[in-house]
Amino acid sequence: MKPISLSRGAKFAIARLESRGYEAYAVGGCVRDSLLGQAPHDWDLTTNATPDETAAAFADCRVVETGKKHGTVTVLDRGEPLEITTYRRDGAYADNRHPVSVTFSKTLSDDLSRRDFTVNAMAYHPSRGLVDLFGGKEDLQNGVIRCVGNAETRFHEDGLRILRAIRFASVLDFSLEAETARAIHICVFLLDNIARERIREEWTKLLLGKAADRILRDYPDVISEIFPEVVPSPLDIHICDAPADPVIRLTLFLYGWTTDIGADAATLRLRYDNATREEVGTLLRLIEIPLDPAEAAVRRLLTQLSPETLDRLLCVKRCLGIPAPAEISSIAQTILSRGDCLSLRALAVNGNDLMKLGFHEGKPIGDLLNRLLDCVIDGTLPNKKAALLNAAKKWK
Ligand code: ATP
Ligand code: MG
Repeated sequence: MKPISLSRGAKFAIARLESRGYEAYAVGGCVRDSLLGQAPHDWDLTTNATPDETAAAFADCRVVETGKKHGTVTVLDRGEPLEITTYRRDGAYADNRHPVSVTFSKTLSDDLSRRDFTVNAMAYHPSRGLVDLFGGKEDLQNGVIRCVGNAETRFHEDGLRILRAIRFASVLDFSLEAETARAIHICVFLLDNIARERIREEWTKLLLGKAADRILRDYPDVISEIFPEVVPSPLDIHICDAPADPVIRLTLFLYGWTTDIGADAATLRLRYDNATREEVGTLLRLIEIPLDPAEAAVRRLLTQLSPETLDRLLCVKRCLGIPAPAEISSIAQTILSRGDCLSLRALAVNGNDLMKLGFHEGKPIGDLLNRLLDCVIDGTLPNKKAALLNAAKKWK
């Protein structure tokens, strides 16, 4: 395990709280990631100071009190946000998601006990060192996700933990401790009570994980709980071969596990944003359509797809072993950098030019412009005014 080196802001905040007579520790994900030798994306602190006391201790800093009801005060120290949460004990849980009451506590052990997994339940202090009450460090060393306390009880308290467990296992390439795994299979139905946005967030992270394929294989019951539209015998797809791009991974998952209609229903139900839903829909529609590397064909593709979408399509096809000529990407680059005409806007003639030739406004002109554009895209006419007007005259 790697030594922990607190961020400047975390050190400052711990020292400040201690100078006022409180305890404070770094806790959770930042301790886990530091021990793994990964840079934490944020530093969370836990303290026996109440939220008001914390806010008062940082009166000279910018303080955001949005999570105060749950004990969290965010201090902005030179741009670094520090979430400082009062030691908590969660009361009884309603709807398998929200503790009915949050009780502040005076002991660190209470706060660590309410946390979900042993690897997430460690605290660190710059001089007192690691506080590890549940064997989190050993589990981290062995690559194990294990609930703090009785797994079934913990999942009943908060069903989202089921997804968090397999999400961490996927991202960290960890296994699930036997009791925790057993409880997941028993408790999957609890996911019905969880907000879809929360499920979506966890699911996206899970798909991006380096062990996503193994987790999908081992937890088909979780998949069918979240996605009622899954097909009985999904395709054997290696999502982990694809880059960690949420759209690509989601497309591959849906291609393997659902029908086209099912995929659309699933992204709608999980409230994916419209851009993602459209992009995934486009990719799924085009996956099986053969691609032709001829310039004209690539130009035609670029009238419908952004270069980014085209690259994703090539990538998805390659992952599925569907032939996708590699040169298409560079041909597309050439077409774009040359500034080839791909739309009516870029055509060298417009409606006015055609009216002067005696064409009638409205549909006849619209049709003619589209016919000219088709010729330019196919390469049978150059995008030059004289040549286009000549062709139009002939067609007249
Ligand atoms: P990451 O931010 O990388 O996803 P994290 O461990 O920081 O991982 P957060 O969701 O930011 O995860 O939560 C911070 C900490 O709060 C966790 O490490 C864990 O100790 C605790 N925690 C978060 N969600 C839950 C939960 N549903 N039940 C119990 N403890 C939780
Ligand atoms: Mg976090």
